[in-house]
Amino acid sequence: MNASPQTVSGTPPKVMLLIDGKPVESSTQEWREVINPATQEVLAAVPFATADEIDRAICSAHAAFEKWKRTSVGVRMRIMLRYQALVREHLPRIAKTLSAEQGKTLADAEGDIFRGLEVVEHACSIGSLAQGEFLENVAGGVDTYTLRQPIGVCAGITPFNFPAMIPLWMFPMAIVCGNTFVLKPSEQDPLSTMQLVELAIEAGVPPGVLNVVHGGKEVVDALCTHELVKAVSFVGSTAVGTHVYRLASEHGKRVQSMMGAKNHAVVLPDANREHTLNALAGAGFGAAGQRCMATSVIVFVGESHQWLPDLVAKAKLLKVNAGSEPGTDVGPVISRAAKARILALLETGVTEGATLTLDGRDISVRGYEDGNFVGPTIFSDVTTEMQIYRTEIFGPVLLVMSVPTLDDAIALVNSNPYGNGVGLFTSSGAAARKFQSEIDVGQVGINIPIPVPVPYFSFTGSRGSKLGDLGPYGKQVVQFYTQTKTVTARWFDDATVNDGVNTTISLR
Ligand code: NAD
Repeated sequence: MNASPQTVSGTPPKVMLLIDGKPVESSTQEWREVINPATQEVLAAVPFATADEIDRAICSAHAAFEKWKRTSVGVRMRIMLRYQALVREHLPRIAKTLSAEQGKTLADAEGDIFRGLEVVEHACSIGSLAQGEFLENVAGGVDTYTLRQPIGVCAGITPFNFPAMIPLWMFPMAIVCGNTFVLKPSEQDPLSTMQLVELAIEAGVPPGVLNVVHGGKEVVDALCTHELVKAVSFVGSTAVGTHVYRLASEHGKRVQSMMGAKNHAVVLPDANREHTLNALAGAGFGAAGQRCMATSVIVFVGESHQWLPDLVAKAKLLKVNAGSEPGTDVGPVISRAAKARILALLETGVTEGATLTLDGRDISVRGYEDGNFVGPTIFSDVTTEMQIYRTEIFGPVLLVMSVPTLDDAIALVNSNPYGNGVGLFTSSGAAARKFQSEIDVGQVGINIPIPVPVPYFSFTGSRGSKLGDLGPYGKQVVQFYTQTKTVTARWFDDATVNDGVNTTISLR
């Protein structure tokens, strides 16, 4: 299968849909350019699929479900085993595409794919993960057991910032559980996602089991409301995720929605200074701050605020350049619109009285003068009322605050509406234990700045960063992508005593 963009001379290559196992050129009139954020080169044109194309993709998934749900666990698992080998083999090629369309450095693009690959590896354990429960003799001669059955057509809607990892959070686990899938990748960088989809077909995912439609709001709304879709997985911003959660829930779907963030890092004066500052600079400015788990607020406790000049010095050393250039630390942000939004937010920080300790606004990168670059930026003297604190900036910007005690830091973090990730930097086990117990954030790092769990655990953002109970991957996603059925069974043989007709609830 070749779902890669198809070139017609003089026009950008067109990104294909995938319906019923075949690449399909959309008949839509609405196309959007996929643009290299370092150069503004047009890499491809992505279609906004028509209502008929979306319906065909969902119907194909629905038809394929009948056979796929009966396909043995072993067969599904072996497809995933082939898939993980193919993704590993093609990782360097996909990373180049990802870096070109998204802007992150080549090394970080490889990391993006690798974290997704780990989920594919985990999907190969479905034989253990999807087992039910059994209890013998719950009443006289009666046994109870549970079955985990696939739920049907599942849909996935993914953001621009991890075009490999996040699609791989979704469709491998959904499919290996026996469901079929319709994926709607980010329209800003769908090319690497499509390369991963091609490999899934090459690995043996049958026609209709995995389909792809491209587009924006209309496509997403169609997936959330179509009667044949049973579950929706969303990752993206809070505004869109809340809309998706409400719309799909109203239409009777099971929904998981992973959304925006404002991740704090709390620094105690007893922390290892060098390790901590390296971690904070990496987590704040890596991927140009466009990670949902990026550190965006540093809370210095007590004397640790004296470390600020060292943090600024580290940030100044970071090399801002195109992701394809060797030695780059910070690439461009995804689009001109994203850069304009970030700069407007930084302006509010200045006017609202924060101190612009490091100003990355006017950066120019030689050879990439048209790139969407924002240099590492640090605001200190930030307060909770400021827009830069209340809004997810999603750029290479660190806000710095200072509080007298650990209790103050915990209260500050807990009063922020988001609950995706938080870090504590300390050498005190007692402080760490108090923090992990009292902090109201879903994912906690102790001397770890970006505590995204490995795939054997689940991604567990909370509060304003998540809607729905069950997170991506790990054991939780097997619950999300399956319906539990409880069977209570009794078998008679000649020795079974005949109790006659009983019209009361049994007390045995
Ligand atoms: P986004 O919400 O703009 O887009 C996400 C998806 O929704 C895309 O596929 C997009 O096409 C679609 N979409 C956009 N506008 C829509 C609308 N009005 N109605 C319906 N669908 C719409 O997010 P983004 O800018 O691509 O990604 C960045 C955001 O994602 C950040 O807020 C980041 O924190 C968040 N994110 C969260 C996690 C997490 O696990 N919590 C992980 C990665 C990214």
